[in-house]
Amino acid sequence: MATIAFIGLGNMGGPMAINLVKAGHDVCVFDLSPEAVASVVEQGGRKADTAMASVNNAEFIVSMLPAGKHVEGVYLGADGSAGLIEHIGEGSLVIDSSTIDAATSQKVASQLAVKGIEFIDAPVSGGVGGAKAGTLSFMVGGSDNCFERAKPILECMGKNIFHAGDHGAGQIAKVCNNMLLSVLMVGTSEALQLGVDNGLDPKVLSDIMSKSSGSNWTLDVYNPCPNVMENVPSSNNYEGGFMVDLMAKDLGLAMDTAVTSRSSTPMGALARSLYAMHSTAGNGAKDFSSIYNLFKKS
Ligand code: NAD
Repeated sequence: MATIAFIGLGNMGGPMAINLVKAGHDVCVFDLSPEAVASVVEQGGRKADTAMASVNNAEFIVSMLPAGKHVEGVYLGADGSAGLIEHIGEGSLVIDSSTIDAATSQKVASQLAVKGIEFIDAPVSGGVGGAKAGTLSFMVGGSDNCFERAKPILECMGKNIFHAGDHGAGQIAKVCNNMLLSVLMVGTSEALQLGVDNGLDPKVLSDIMSKSSGSNWTLDVYNPCPNVMENVPSSNNYEGGFMVDLMAKDLGLAMDTAVTSRSSTPMGALARSLYAMHSTAGNGAKDFSSIYNLFKKS
C-alpha cells in the first residue's frame, strides 16, 4: 500500500482517485470543490482541507487539473502563494495526468528536481468511462526509473501504460491523439447527419460504418448522434464526458506545438476553429460530441 495525495477530483480525477482507493492505497484527496472531495471520501478517500495538507507523507502525488496555469500554480505557486514544491518530501514522485503544454510540464519537472522531487507527465486517454472502469491509456514522459516506479500506481487506473520519452513527451503524444480524436468526431458527425438527411436511420448507418472502413472510436463507443447508444453523453443531453472547452484547449495546444515544429495540420486547424465556434455559441460546458449539433438541420 502506498500513501498517495490526489489533487483535482473532477470528471476524470474523481473516478481515478476512487480506483486507487479500491486498489488498497491510502489516498488523501483535495479539490477546490467540497462536493468533489465528499464524493471520493464517501468511497474511502481521506479528506485534506488544503492541497498542502494532502501531500503530508505522500510517496506519490497525482494531479488531474484543467490546464497548465493550474498545474504550475499548484506546484510552483501563484499570486504570491507558495506552491507544493515547498511541502512535498524529497524523493516523492509527482504524477501529473492533466493535459497541458509540454513546456509547462518541463518547467515544473526541472524546478521540482532542484528540490529532489521526481516528476512525470502522464496524461490519459479513454474518457470518463475509461476513468471509471480503470481502463485509461497513460502516455508518460520522464526517466526510465520514474516510469517503472509509477507503473504499479498507474496500473490501478489504466490498462495501457506507454513510455513516450523524456519530460513533456507524454503531453506531445496526448495532443497528437486529441487532435486526431477531434477530426474523427467532426467527420463522424457530418457523415451521420448526411445519412439522416437522406433518410437513413442513424443506428443502422452506425452499424454499417462501424463494420466498414469508416469504423473509429467516436462511432463505435462514443456515438455523437442522440439515442444511437446508451450511456454516452449524446443520449444524456451531452452532459458529463469531455467538455468542449477542454477539447478547444487541447486543440490550441496542438496548434502551438505545430507552429513550434513547423508542422502542417490542416485538419486539426479546421477542427480547432469548429470547436472554438461551438464554444462561443454557448456550448463550452457540453460534451465534445455535441459538435454533432453543428450539422443538424433545425
Ligand atoms: P474537470 O473540470 O471536471 O475537473 C478539474 C477539477 O480540478 C475540478 O474539480 C476543479 O475544482 C479542480 N481544480 C481546479 N483548480 C484546482 C486547484 N488549484 N486545486 C485543486 N483542485 C483544482 O476536468 P476533467 O474533465 O476532470 O479534466 C481534467 C484534465 O484531464 C484536463 O486537463 C483534461 O484536458 C484532461 N482529460 C479529460 C478527459 C475527459 O474525458 N474529461 C479525458 C482525458 C483527459
